[in-house]
Amino acid sequence: MDRKSVTEILSPDAKGIARAAKILREGGLVAVPTETVYGLAARADSDGAVARIYDAKGRPGFNPLIVHVAELGEAGALVELDPRARALAERFWPGPLTLVLPRRADAAVASAVHAGLPTLAVRCPAHPVTRAVLAQVGMPLAAPSANASETVSPTSAEHVLATLDGRIDAVIDAGPAEQGLESTIIALRQGGGWSLLREGPVTRDTLRAVLGEEEAASGEIEAPGQLARHYAPGKPVRLGASNAQAGEFLIGFGAVVGDVTLSPSGDLQEAARNLYACLHLAKASPKPRVAVAPVPEDGVGRAINDRLRRAAAPAT
Ligand code: AMP
Ligand code: MG
Repeated sequence: MDRKSVTEILSPDAKGIARAAKILREGGLVAVPTETVYGLAARADSDGAVARIYDAKGRPGFNPLIVHVAELGEAGALVELDPRARALAERFWPGPLTLVLPRRADAAVASAVHAGLPTLAVRCPAHPVTRAVLAQVGMPLAAPSANASETVSPTSAEHVLATLDGRIDAVIDAGPAEQGLESTIIALRQGGGWSLLREGPVTRDTLRAVLGEEEAASGEIEAPGQLARHYAPGKPVRLGASNAQAGEFLIGFGAVVGDVTLSPSGDLQEAARNLYACLHLAKASPKPRVAVAPVPEDGVGRAINDRLRRAAAPAT
């Protein structure tokens, strides 16, 4: 896990996109901007390229990857699309919704992408730069978040370089991510049920309105993003704080004014966008502990609290 090479910083223009596409076609790793967080992309069909993702991130091999596609037709070559999947893709793609669907026997993906599961996670991202990269590469790209495993997710090129500089071939710097939280992940079951595997920008209530009631949770961990501890800044985190105690770096929200704030006006979209940048600042601060103001459990606030609870979970 040592430093391997120089990571190129590419501009989000035609030249940078062409360079990224060339590196990816040749089996390299490029961090790309998406509307959720920055993703670490590689050809999904190449065992070698996908192995490099796990190596660069230090990611455990049991944690499968999301495959990013340029459009629905490309997903249809990888997974079984039932009418519900088509309806969801039509409504939410391109956008922050990942579908876990039965994997086709002839899907051209490296086995490390699905980690041996009979399913595959697919998503069509909305960011214009990454859509242009996908179109030029002309094949699906596997892409987890572009950070070392178990560190705070990246919402800027600077965050990517904080843990992956020298370990990946390039990053396209397109400024801060618009949504700031990882995609919502749902599994569509063959019998007609569905379940939410990860909260995200597309809320549970929105999905219920489209799909009806969710199936009762199986209790099994299907998406390792559901693990209790994730997204942690490497120091103790106290939630629901109305002020800072000695030695705490306070992340504020609304009326709670901190060292930094998720949103001074209490806006949840803004808080989602700022969450990881605030956690990166908390991590970099000399203060030994972190406190976070309460965030209401409405709309995308649920996904924010989900990430905060995992960031605060004690190390095992
Ligand atoms: P990341 O892209 O690093 O945010 O992580 C991708 C998330 O998708 C992880 O939580 C994975 O466990 C989850 N995931 C990917 N493929 C599958 C799948 N086939 N079934 C369930 N979860 C999946
Ligand atoms: Mg991640």
